[in-house]
Amino acid sequence: MRIIESLEEMREAAAELAAGRRSSGLVPTMGALHEGHLSLMRRSAGENGVTVVSIFVNPAQFSPEEDYDSYPRTWEEDLAAAKSAGVDIVFHPGAEQMYPPRSQTSVMVHGLTRGLCGMSRGQGHFRGVTTVVAKLFNLVRPTRAYFGQKDAQQAVVIQRMVLDLNFPVEIIVCPIVREDDGLAMSSRNRNLPPQYRPRALALRRALELGRKLIREGETDPYLLANAMGQRILMDSEIELDYLEIVSPETLEAVEKLDDLALIAGAVKIGGVRLIDNILVGPDGPWED
Ligand code: AMP
Repeated sequence: MRIIESLEEMREAAAELAAGRRSSGLVPTMGALHEGHLSLMRRSAGENGVTVVSIFVNPAQFSPEEDYDSYPRTWEEDLAAAKSAGVDIVFHPGAEQMYPPRSQTSVMVHGLTRGLCGMSRGQGHFRGVTTVVAKLFNLVRPTRAYFGQKDAQQAVVIQRMVLDLNFPVEIIVCPIVREDDGLAMSSRNRNLPPQYRPRALALRRALELGRKLIREGETDPYLLANAMGQRILMDSEIELDYLEIVSPETLEAVEKLDDLALIAGAVKIGGVRLIDNILVGPDGPWED
């Protein structure tokens, strides 16, 4: 497995792949790799001649009051994990290379970034995401790029950007990988104080409650959101950031649950922000 730390070397490697007509898959990550990330890498390794994983904690997507400094960084373990998942190249650029002092260009997807995490973290979060992903696409020139449904809004936003800016890349969205008890895997789970770990399931349990109520025939998004919100707020130590029932394509609130909907939420527990979501409609799916 090759480690590339300079933009120039990554560009050259990408040019060689293109010249050799080899397909490549890119898995953008911020490191602290877990099974969720590895599922994306394995999928890419199965579908492409070469798999590139970027490991870059992107300062542009954190606001000043967020956890950029305390975001987990586990470089040595990440390398071993990436290798075991069949990765060929780890691209690990420095922040000063990605954002030289005079850079002043960004990529912004407007409407889709307004709600959900865009509301709670600010649209600047997604501006940071789309800008860095656009830069990675230009540097790596992948045939396919792999993202997780865990960050459902991010996946929709990236797909919009690819269409709007005509990036020649196919976006593959992969299912959420969970711990045995159902907690969505996340690098931030490492920062959960152990006494808060059982409580971290509150959002998952609320989403499951929503799905159960839908199965029993409830179609009113307000009643559903209310019941799920109350389930979370039963624990006074949990801060509910948002919980919304939206169209999986437009991310706009649905008036009635008569088609597949995305139920997405974010909570803060013990100072750590966790997100999760399910896709469900009046005819299921009842499991994920
Ligand atoms: P991150 O390092 O958190 O920026 O995540 C990198 C990629 O891995 C994103 O496309 C995430 O959606 C995806 N990802 C993170 N956690 C999971 C998970 N539990 N299951 C599936 N994909 C995930």
